[in-house]
Amino acid sequence: MNILFVVSECVPFVKSGGLADVAGSLPKELAKQGLDIRVILPKYSTISDEYKKQMKKKADFIVEVGWRKQYCGIEELVHQGITYYFIDNEYYFSREQLYGYFDDGERFAFFNLAVIEALSYLSFQPAIIHCHDWHTGMIPFLLSISKNYVAIRTVFTIHNLQFQGIMPRETLSDLFGLSEHYFHVDQLEYYGDVNLMKGGIVAADHLTTVSPTYKQEIQTYTYGEGLHDLLKSRATDLAGILNGIDDAFYHPGEDPFLYKCYSNPSGKRANKLYIQEHFGLPKKEETPLIAMITRLTEQKGIDLVHRVFRELMAEDIQLIILGSGEKEYENFFREMEGYYPHKCKTYIGFDEGLAHQVYAGADLFLMPSKFEPCGLGQLIAMKYGAVPIVRETGGLTDTVQSYNLLTGVGNGFTFSHYNAHDMLFTIKRALSFYQDKECWQTIVGNAMARDYSWTQSASQYRELYLNLVSRSESHVF
Ligand code: ADP
Repeated sequence: MNILFVVSECVPFVKSGGLADVAGSLPKELAKQGLDIRVILPKYSTISDEYKKQMKKKADFIVEVGWRKQYCGIEELVHQGITYYFIDNEYYFSREQLYGYFDDGERFAFFNLAVIEALSYLSFQPAIIHCHDWHTGMIPFLLSISKNYVAIRTVFTIHNLQFQGIMPRETLSDLFGLSEHYFHVDQLEYYGDVNLMKGGIVAADHLTTVSPTYKQEIQTYTYGEGLHDLLKSRATDLAGILNGIDDAFYHPGEDPFLYKCYSNPSGKRANKLYIQEHFGLPKKEETPLIAMITRLTEQKGIDLVHRVFRELMAEDIQLIILGSGEKEYENFFREMEGYYPHKCKTYIGFDEGLAHQVYAGADLFLMPSKFEPCGLGQLIAMKYGAVPIVRETGGLTDTVQSYNLLTGVGNGFTFSHYNAHDMLFTIKRALSFYQDKECWQTIVGNAMARDYSWTQSASQYRELYLNLVSRSESHVF
């Protein structure tokens, strides 16, 4: 079966977060399970020359973005057995960042339209087009209103419902050449604007999201970001499939980024001393080292950390923060580094190798998210034996079980309410367990022992694809 993955970022080419990890690892597992799966994404100028040199031009054509006529090249590259197609247009994708531009609506409208046009030029006929997040939301919608693609089924995965691609009403005709007919609450209209993610949700044949708990949460007012009623109405077509991680890339036993590779909890010691030295922290093996590797945004619970920072610093701990995002948080952590030079270190930026080293050196991994569709940080942390402290939400609920001293079961520490002192109390609880070396070995062992690979979840996607192609009718909204 042929599957085309459409996504806005993908490891190893470009990454801003977990979406790229998923797009880079799930296809490899699906290919192992017998599917011919290919991935299509924008050719950003930030992709390294190493990959750009290997790309071969397949086709070029003109894409109509409303009244604009834009060049589109298709380039192909085979990497680790997977074929990748890149949509080339320098005007849209030769930028420093992946997102955050005034014309993101136009950039990704072009991407959506170009992918559909590209179907006629690829020597690959997909049975299913699997789209991810708002950047690809209009593809299921446009296919569903066209007579030319009736045989193609679509899957739309929600990785983060917070980002929906909400654009002005004029977008409909200006970018997509669509009539006002589609500006309707049952279609693309959203509180007076146009919502591109909604296009995917109303029109895709099947919907998925990235954890069973997030699937339930997004059907509620609190987590539904204004789309909960629509999601509820499509509940029978919505699956919650937990993300996995790339077992080969995140493998403390064979990780080229690490100071010393390891396969059991005691192997972390050398990496901890290394990372303490790297950041200029006192090299103290007995001091618990807490890490955060994250976007510095409200979603990630940074305001909770901000709220109780001084109380946290009163504990005998070290804290390393790796991240970037909202300036207010970046500045706060920079400032705190000055106040607590022997306890708190910050790296503002994105560094894959450093992240691996911090996962390997840390004793604890703090992820107090306000909401978390799946979360990969805690999965990687556990794989590297850094015990997670998380809030019980979304995929964090599905992957972290609070340690129970009586049963010896549990791979981390959790709290339920989005409250800074509940978080602080839970950190203190974890620190008290840290003092009991034997007990701590058990918790770290539990965290490292779990299977975080894609094997099981990929087979759920495979089954979903098979069911979908055997269904004769396309979803009609
Ligand atoms: P998100 O909501 O940002 O996608 P996830 O937990 O699902 O959150 O995935 C985050 C991914 O990005 C993980 O692979 C994590 O290690 C990585 N990451 C986050 N911040 C940084 C950073 N500053 N440097 C390197 N990697 C980072």
